[in-house]
Amino acid sequence: MRSYRIAAIPGDGIGSEVIAAGIEALTACAGRDGGFEFVFDHFDWGSERYKKTGAFMPEDGRDQIKGHDAILFGSAGAPDVPDHITLWGLRLAICQPFDQYANVRPTRILPGIVSPLRHVTGPELDWVIVRENSEGEYAGVGGRVHRGLPEECATDVSMFTRTGVARIMRFAFALARSRPRKLLTVVTKSNAQRHAMVMWDEIAAEIAAEFPDVTWDKMLVDAMTMRMTLKPATLDTIVATNLHADILSDLAAALAGSLGIAPTANLNPERKFPSMFEPIHGSAFDIIGKGIANPIGTFWSGVMMLEHLGQPAAARRLMRAIERVTADRSLHTPDLGGRATTAQVTKAVCDALAGDNE
Ligand code: NAD
Ligand code: MN
Repeated sequence: MRSYRIAAIPGDGIGSEVIAAGIEALTACAGRDGGFEFVFDHFDWGSERYKKTGAFMPEDGRDQIKGHDAILFGSAGAPDVPDHITLWGLRLAICQPFDQYANVRPTRILPGIVSPLRHVTGPELDWVIVRENSEGEYAGVGGRVHRGLPEECATDVSMFTRTGVARIMRFAFALARSRPRKLLTVVTKSNAQRHAMVMWDEIAAEIAAEFPDVTWDKMLVDAMTMRMTLKPATLDTIVATNLHADILSDLAAALAGSLGIAPTANLNPERKFPSMFEPIHGSAFDIIGKGIANPIGTFWSGVMMLEHLGQPAAARRLMRAIERVTADRSLHTPDLGGRATTAQVTKAVCDALAGDNE
């Protein structure tokens, strides 16, 4: 039997609650399928460890997980540790060295979920956002001098390379081609940012020539927020820079009903390193320990992990189970306006998997 080794890193806050739920659902899914199993290795990396030892993960941390088939990640962020320390100490410390340059974020309105957009019920909103995940505005280039003085100065330099832009464009065009509408929107800001964003546009046009069967258009990021809100059906696959896609994907998640549902894959498409799967949401300080964190974002991330691992039938089965559960409003957690608990939603998904005879 094929056995997949998964590194489970719950991290902070509700991370441990949703990852425990995710492991339960993925185990039930593998059991139902019969042909493969998961072996989860657990890592206590996160802010608690940082406060005790000064490091979020051990020095050889990446070596400990580089042989795993995939990483299942919860959240990084604690109220008493500055967010930029946590992000760079844990999440980016995995994403960047493992060259997980394609961040993929599907958005759909699942059955039973009400979008805050009036009249939008389902088929009108079915997107995949591709976020450049290795450079751009989050390249980490910059500095701060003369701290506290009137002359204090700080820079964050965004950095775009031809290699980095070409590979994310190629990835996005290929993904668009694999979807029925074969439609890609390239998000830019080349009117104001006249160097890197102009190169971004030029490379998009070059790569487009390799994909004559994909229809594509270009959209300024500010206008894009309007188009997402007012004309969602005109969009399908979307590619944007690290910062732009970070912002647009939270908007997308909100338009699809809740941040608690949205999934992410951080992919190393060449498979030289493990890819990482995580819900989009953060540590959710306001609901820690209450047992009401929505686990659907983690389950859907599990679907993406199954697809990446080459288990498409199991991925479809888990997605069907998720959709059966969201369709039942009595199984909605409070972020969706319901009263269900994490445990009830998890059990319902496991039951739906057991009862799925397709
Ligand atoms: P957040 O996602 O933690 O919470 C925003 C709101 O959404 C809160 O009201 C929260 O209760 C709700 N929410 C989020 N996930 C939910 C779920 N699964 N079920 C029900 N409700 C849910 O975002 P924030 O408040 O901006 O950030 C809190 C911390 O998390 C910060 O330290 C931030 O840096 C970190 N963070 C980490 C990641 C990550 O690791 N990928 C992503 C976003 C934020
Ligand atoms: Mn974000």
